Amino acid sequence: MQHDAIVIGGSFAGLSAAIHIARARRSVCVIDAGLPRNRFSDASHGFFGQDGGEPLAMIAEASAQLQRYPTVLTMSGAAVGASAIPGGFEVELAHGVTITAAKLVLAFGISDVLPEISGLTERWGKSALHCPYCHGFEYAGQRLGVLQTMPMSAHQALLIADWGPTTLYLNGGDLPDIETQAKLARRGVLIEPAQIARLQGWEDHLSSLLLDDGREVAIDALYLAPRTTLNSPIAEQLGCDLDDGPLGPVIRTDAAKLTSVPGVYAAGDAARVPHNATWAAADGVTAGVSLHQALVFEPLAA
Ligand SMILES: Cc1cc2nc3c(=O)[nH]c(=O)nc-3n(C[C@H](O)[C@H](O)[C@H](O)COP(=O)(O)OP(=O)(O)OC[C@H]3O[C@@H](n4cnc5c(N)ncnc54)[C@H](O)[C@@H]3O)c2cc1C
Repeated sequence: MQHDAIVIGGSFAGLSAAIHIARARRSVCVIDAGLPRNRFSDASHGFFGQDGGEPLAMIAEASAQLQRYPTVLTMSGAAVGASAIPGGFEVELAHGVTITAAKLVLAFGISDVLPEISGLTERWGKSALHCPYCHGFEYAGQRLGVLQTMPMSAHQALLIADWGPTTLYLNGGDLPDIETQAKLARRGVLIEPAQIARLQGWEDHLSSLLLDDGREVAIDALYLAPRTTLNSPIAEQLGCDLDDGPLGPVIRTDAAKLTSVPGVYAAGDAARVPHNATWAAADGVTAGVSLHQALVFEPLAA
């Protein structure tokens, strides 16, 4: 059976797209590998009506609500490939099964590639953080740090100083230019040039950074902007144009969340900067509604 739509990725973006397609009484199959980007955090903040919700529970509830619609099929696992076929697209699943649809939504998200510093991975999403709007309030007034990972890290430190006393950790990298150093000084941001040997603290809490020169500096939360990768090569396989985002590749979309390939929509972190769950969900709504309207109006234009 050919579906009207296949959604690859069943999290904030994919489930938001799918519910709008389902509410328009079109058939939609959601394939999801079950590894949302924020699974490392115990709480998701700032989402309308669900501030502080547990990420996997929020997604499970949205998935359960979606499954009340009779035209929905959900499948667990990863889509491993996709290609255009006459009248639509074919998506291949991990165990060799293929499914087909008239349209696709790519909502498979991105992954963070953390710098290799001892003690960082196990604290990611807990006391090593990517976004002050998501987790900054919980660390307000405490000892904050920003790890320099990119040219914009100094800008991040200027911002994060709004949440508490902040140090920019160059980790052996270059000093910001003189103008930026002056701005950092005006914001009270300290600069620590030394390389970081290790993050230290009890379980996933952070209490100090051990520097390469043997000093230990006290800290409660360390912010960083890691490089990101798309979770699947399917956009490239389909021929979708990508842009070089500040942190990694981004699937190019128009205002309707249509990619450069007709019939293929993309939503969420894989297709936007900046990122958060609300924007991902909103993009999913746009993709789902656009896709449905294309199903209605494209045949009329033929
Ligand atoms: C540590 C951390 C904490 C965060 N905290 C917050 C917060 O408090 N508030 C907030 O608003 N935002 C937060 N974010 C950002 C938020 O996680 C993302 O913006 C949001 O998850 C993006 O939603 P998405 O649907 O685009 O992608 P994701 O949520 O990453 O979901 C993508 C889904 O697609 C699946 N998938 C991947 N590849 C395939 C495939 N080939 N086939 C099938 N399925 C596939 C994945 O397994 C996953 O289930 C946080 C991010 C991080 C890293």
